[in-house]
Amino acid sequence: MTLCMPPPDQAVIARRAAIAAALRAIVPDGVIDEPTVLKAYESDGLTAYRQPPMLAVLPETTAQVAAILRYCQAEGVKVVPRGSGTSLSGGALPLADAVLLGMAKFNRVLEVDYDDRFAVVQPGVTNLAVTQAVEAAGFYYAPDPSSQIACSIGGNVAENSGGVHCLKYGLTTNNVLGVELVMMDGEIVRLGSRHLDPAGLDLLGLVVGSEGLLGVVTEVTVRILPKPQTAKALLLGFSTVEGAGACVAGVIAAGIIPAGMEMMDRPAIHAAEAFVRVGYPLDVDALLIVELDGPAAECDHLAAEVEAIATANGAVSCRVSTSEAERLAFWAGRKAAFPAVSRIAPDYYCMDGTIPRRRLPDVLTRISELAVQHELGVANVFHAGDGNLHPLILYDANQPGQLERAEAFGEDILRLCVEVGGVLTGEHGVGVEKRDLMPLMFNETDLAHQQRVKCAFDPDLLLNPGKVFPTLHRCAELGRMHVHGGATRFPDIPRF
Ligand SMILES: Cc1cc2nc3c(=O)[nH]c(=O)nc-3n(C[C@H](O)[C@H](O)[C@H](O)COP(=O)(O)OP(=O)(O)OC[C@H]3O[C@@H](n4cnc5c(N)ncnc54)[C@H](O)[C@@H]3O)c2cc1C
Repeated sequence: MTLCMPPPDQAVIARRAAIAAALRAIVPDGVIDEPTVLKAYESDGLTAYRQPPMLAVLPETTAQVAAILRYCQAEGVKVVPRGSGTSLSGGALPLADAVLLGMAKFNRVLEVDYDDRFAVVQPGVTNLAVTQAVEAAGFYYAPDPSSQIACSIGGNVAENSGGVHCLKYGLTTNNVLGVELVMMDGEIVRLGSRHLDPAGLDLLGLVVGSEGLLGVVTEVTVRILPKPQTAKALLLGFSTVEGAGACVAGVIAAGIIPAGMEMMDRPAIHAAEAFVRVGYPLDVDALLIVELDGPAAECDHLAAEVEAIATANGAVSCRVSTSEAERLAFWAGRKAAFPAVSRIAPDYYCMDGTIPRRRLPDVLTRISELAVQHELGVANVFHAGDGNLHPLILYDANQPGQLERAEAFGEDILRLCVEVGGVLTGEHGVGVEKRDLMPLMFNETDLAHQQRVKCAFDPDLLLNPGKVFPTLHRCAELGRMHVHGGATRFPDIPRF
C-alpha cells in the first residue's frame, strides 16, 4: 500500500474499550469491537487499500446518530461514515483510530408521493430498491450506477453518483430534493425540501458530493419520474475508436440527448460478450449503445437520426432493439462489464475522469500508449455522452510492483484528463484515490476555500479525515503555511 494516511492517534486507540462502552450505551446491540468481525469493514470498492476500523457502530435512528457524533466530537474521536462500501475512490476506507459509522440499518422507504413525485427514504436503502418501491405504479428513480443493486442512497448522495441514464436525467444532485443531516456536534438539520428551489443558500447542493466530510445523511427525499412510454436502444459497432467518438459528438451536436450513450472498446467488448453472450460484434474496435426514450414516434424518429449519424461516421454494424428483451440484452453486457473484466485479469483498478467529448479519440489513443509504457492491460467502458471515462487497468496484486505500476498508470490517466481540459472525477469522488492529485486542478487558495467550508461544518476535522484534501490544515489557521528558520508552524498537525 503506497497510500499515506493521517497517523493514528495512539491516545484515542488506548481508550478503545471505554469508547466502545460509551457507544454501547447509545446503541446497545450495534457496536462491533471483535477484530475478526471488524475485518469485514477494512475496505470498500477500492480494495487495494485496507485498514480495519478501531470500532464499528450500526445505529438505527437519527437520535442515535446524533448521540454518537456528539460523543465523538466531545471525545475527539474520528468518524468514518459508511453506506454499502462500494466506493471506488476509498471514501469509506476506515482509519485505525476512527469509529466506522455503518448506515446499513437505515433501510426503510418512509413515504412515496406519486402526485408530487417524490419518495422519502432512509440512506441505507439501495439505489435499486427505490425504483423497486415505485415501479408498480409506473415510476422509477433515474440515477442508476452500475452498482445499483448494492450501493446505498446515502452513498449516492455523498458521492453525487451517476449512471447510464444521467446524461438525460442528471446526476444524484439533480434528483435529490432534500436531506436530513446530522452535524458532527449532533445537531440535526434539514436541507432542501420536498419541492424545488427552497429559500436560502443552496446548502443541499453543497452536501451532495461532500463525501462524508460535512455531516451524516439520515434521510433523503428523492425525485421519482414516470417511466418513459417506450425505450429503444441502438447497438453500433465501429472499426475505429475515432469513428465512435465522432458519432458521440455528432449525436450531441444534432441536439439529441439520448437517455444513455455508452462506449466500450475491444477488450471490454470481448470480456463482456464472453461473460453474458448477448451477441456483441467481436470484429469491431468500439461499440456504442445509444438509448432513446419517450413516446414511440419520437423514439423511432430519433433512432433513425442516430443511425444516420453513426453511418456517416463509419459505423460498420447497427442493430436497433425490437423488443424490451432485446434492449435489456444490449445493456446486459455493459452493465456486467466490470465483473466481466475481472475474469480476464486477477485485479483491476477502475479509474474515473472526465474529458471534453471531442477529445475522446486522442485521449483513448494516449491511454493505449500509456498501457504499453506501464506494461499493463487496459479495458475502456464509459459514459461516452458525458465524456466520463472509466479505464479499467488490469493488474495482478500478487505480482510484486504491479499495484504500484497500476497506481502510476492511473495517475497518468487522471493527469491526462486534466491536461485536455477535463476534471479529476466524473462520479466516483475524490476519496483517498485522487486526494493527492487535487493540486492539479486547484491551487492553494482554492483548496483553502474548500477547507473553510469543511471547517464551518466540522471544525475539529473529525468526519472522514484523510479524504479529499491533500493536506490537513487546522481550521483556525487556514492559509499559507509559514516556514521560519526551517520550522513549520503548528508542527503537531499531521501532514500526509
Ligand atoms: C461494480 C461497481 C460499479 C459502480 N458503478 C458506478 C456507477 O456506474 N456510477 C457511480 O457513480 N458509481 C459507481 N460505483 C461506485 C459506488 O457504487 C458509488 O460511489 C456509490 O454511491 C457508493 O455508495 P455506497 O453506499 O456503497 O457508499 P460507501 O462506499 O459506503 O461510501 C461512499 C462515501 O459516502 C460516504 N457516506 C456513505 N453513506 C453516508 C451517509 N449516510 N452520510 C454521509 N456520508 C455517507 C462515505 O463516508 C464515503 O465517503 C460503482 C462501484 C462498483 C463496485
